Amino acid sequence: MQSSFPFDGSQSILIEINQRLADAFGRPTRSPLLDPISQLVWGILSGRTYTSVTQESLTVLQDMFGTWEAVRDAPVAEIERAIAKVTFADIKAPRLKAALEQITGLFGRLTLTPLLNKSDAEALYWLEQLPGVGRKASAATLNFSTMRRSTLVIDTHHLRILKRLRLVRQNADLSEAYDRIMPDLPETWSAEELDAHHQMMKLLGQTICRHGLPGCASCPLRTLCPTAKATTRKASQATQTQNEGPRPPGPRPTGR
Ligand code: SF4
Repeated sequence: MQSSFPFDGSQSILIEINQRLADAFGRPTRSPLLDPISQLVWGILSGRTYTSVTQESLTVLQDMFGTWEAVRDAPVAEIERAIAKVTFADIKAPRLKAALEQITGLFGRLTLTPLLNKSDAEALYWLEQLPGVGRKASAATLNFSTMRRSTLVIDTHHLRILKRLRLVRQNADLSEAYDRIMPDLPETWSAEELDAHHQMMKLLGQTICRHGLPGCASCPLRTLCPTAKATTRKASQATQTQNEGPRPPGPRPTGR
């Protein structure tokens, strides 16, 4: 079937998307990078939770316990109290403790440094065996931390846009979207470029391609996007129907 895009494949589309977002938003930066364990903890806490609340809870944990080893060794109830503001704190507290214990058990101490000896795919898989760690948290632990590995973080904003651009299946989850998109990204993109790409997609999802009705008219990707074309077509059909007004009654059927 002929592609609806004026490009020869997904890689060209992704490069074009990246350029248009950089032109529209400016290229973002991230600083400072967290250490890998702190970024992992962030990932476990952040599900369905506002960024500001995740940040506050991470700070409370650090202030209250001092070290991640002390968090690991604390009673679950104390951890739960410290992270009480995050969504599902009662589920995340035991998962956080178990994840820190599991890392210590497997690596001999609470560190993720041995992941530097694994490929990106192996490191992702390793992290996802930990309690409470899905693809978003594993990719963020590797990319947003001082490890700066070449993994693309896809969150719900990013995923919604990929679906509207028809670059992934409509019912794809974060892992499937990652597996579909990652091989098409240019090999020349550094970890910093992947991070910037994610941040720009997220910003588009927060400001224009929002949940509910997307603001296609002001979107820098509108000429690439099948959803925008469908939305524009429907809107012009609705305007045309309104302008035509009600149809005059036709002749009454006379047949038997
Ligand atoms: S054109 Fe519309 S649907 Fe497509 S990415 Fe932009 S806002 Fe989202």
